[in-house]
Amino acid sequence: KTFADLGIMPSLIEACTNLGYKAPTPIQAESIPLALSGRDLIALAETGSGKTAAFALPILQSLWDSPRPLFACILAPTRELAFQIAEAFDALGGGIGVKTAVIVGGMDMVTQSMALGKRPHIIVATPGRLLDHLENTKGFSLRTLKYLVMDEADKLLDLDFGPSIDKILKVIPKDRRTYLFSATMTSKVEKLQRASLTNPLRVKV
Ligand code: AMP
Repeated sequence: KTFADLGIMPSLIEACTNLGYKAPTPIQAESIPLALSGRDLIALAETGSGKTAAFALPILQSLWDSPRPLFACILAPTRELAFQIAEAFDALGGGIGVKTAVIVGGMDMVTQSMALGKRPHIIVATPGRLLDHLENTKGFSLRTLKYLVMDEADKLLDLDFGPSIDKILKVIPKDRRTYLFSATMTSKVEKLQRASLTNPLRVKV
């Protein structure tokens, strides 16, 4: 299969080609058509499987259809992963003018507040720091969010981000799409899944 077969639009296919992606990886081939059809997803996928583009491409395509700020939020367990994800969104979405902000712990709150004030399309965040901004940064909310991604959900929960995620879920719209990616399916992940996804489809490769 090709990216075009999966329903990806030409400008994003061009971005994939520029990054050297010749064909979709298995997780992309499975996830992208389901995501584009508007369903919530639980995907069991390891790092290195191409999982980032599996959620980034459908989100970017949807953003192109109805561009608006604070469109998608990606929760990641570590700063390093957050920066990698943001890099992927910038690389894939640069051609369509996507603006991305990284909101992680251990960095200056004021600088981050200013980045949020520019109303990026995509926020990639660690949950604790995102919650800190939701509670303390004037004028910032995710009340119009369209997409939530929880990447490496098993690791998010192992690092005790569960309580922060629960609080974030309370202040974002129920009417949104949610993608949960995890390397393993644990009972904690199942519980988070029940709290956050609507009629999800499961993808395993
Ligand atoms: P990830 O699992 O998202 O961390 O991606 C692992 C690596 O695979 C990253 O360096 C991606 O840039 C790369 N990658 C993602 N999708 C593809 C693809 N379809 N073809 C080739 N490389 C890819």
